[in-house]
This record gives sequence, C-alpha cells and structure tokens, in this order.
Amino acid sequence: MERMEPDYRIGKVLFSGGEIGGRVKTLADQIVSEVSGRDLLVVGILNGAVIFLSDLVRRMPAELNIKMDFMSISSYGNATTSSGAVRILKDVNSDIEGRDVLIVEDIIDTGLTLSYLLNIMYTRKPASLRTCVLLDKREKRKVAAKVDYCGFVIPDVFVVGYGLDYGGKWRHLPDICAVEC
Ligand code: 5GP
Repeated sequence: MERMEPDYRIGKVLFSGGEIGGRVKTLADQIVSEVSGRDLLVVGILNGAVIFLSDLVRRMPAELNIKMDFMSISSYGNATTSSGAVRILKDVNSDIEGRDVLIVEDIIDTGLTLSYLLNIMYTRKPASLRTCVLLDKREKRKVAAKVDYCGFVIPDVFVVGYGLDYGGKWRHLPDICAVEC
C-alpha cells in the first residue's frame, strides 16, 4: 500500500521580517563593538544561514574589513531531526589560522552540529572564534556548544523561513514560521 506523507503546512508566524531586521541590526552592532581587530572572517553555514548572513554583514560598517566564506555540512537524519553524525560537504576556502572568525549558523538544536564544527575550527588555530546563531532551541541541547550571539531563543517547534527549510521548501519566506501538520 502507498505510504501517505503527512500534510505539512506553514503555520504561525513566530518572528516577522520586520522583527528579524531589528534583531539582526542589534546583533551586528554588538558583534562590531566586540571585534578587537579590523578584520573579520565571517563563515556562513550553507544553506540555512545564507539569508541571515547576508543581512547581518550588510549591517556592519565599511571600516571593518569583512571577508566571507562558506561551509556546507550534512547531518545525517531525516528532515526534522539530526542524528548527531556530521560530515563536511564543502570546506572553507580560506586559511583561518591567526584570524578573527565568526561562524554564522541558522539554528542550534541539540548542539551536535555546532560543537562538531567548533572542534574542527579550533584545530586550525584561529586568533578568535565566535559563533552567531539566528535561533536557539535551548531546551533541546544535548551537548554544550559556545553561542556568543543569538537572535532568538525558541521553543521546540520546527520552523521554516528566512533561510530555514523543510525538505528544501520555504527558505525564501521573509518571516520565521512554525510548521504545522
Ligand atoms: P543540531 O545539530 O543542533 O541538533 O541541529 C542543527 C541543525 O538542525 C540546523 O543547522 C538545521 O539544519 C536543523 N534544524 C534543527 N531544528 C530545525 C528547525 O526547526 N527548522 C529547520 N529548518 N531546521 C532545523
């Protein structure tokens, strides 16, 4: 018999595009005030962080010498849960040794992805390593991971929009919304 997929749809708006914009500006100001040097390598985690990163860096002043790079990571699991096993699909192109690095991630849930990434990045000896996550499902944490800047703490709901997808869909939504079944 054919298996029926549940009918997932876009649910409640948790954060509107306007609210996100205000929070991103505050985060950018905070990051800029705490970066000690005049150079910052911003590393975005594909694909989910792309929209967040592009808004974040455009809120930073021209005087700060910003370079951008990207990593792509696959966490084994299904569309809504991560299994904890992580694999690098695309590494950064830059040498990060001696540089001030900011990792930009869409969401932290169990913490497994970010802690894995941080372990790899520390072995490369950056001068400093900070993390900025748009969303934090703090109550779901299984392993500690350093979050220096966080957009919003959210409860355990699956969210889409503003870069976050469900099975490749709904990344382009301007708001962050819950998914309903
Ligand atoms: P962690 O390793 O912290 O459990 O999971 C982080 C990754 O799980 C995120 O980068 C993201 O790909 C995925 N993830 C966790 N929660 C959500 C969610 O609510 N929505 C979406 N779209 N992805 C999520």
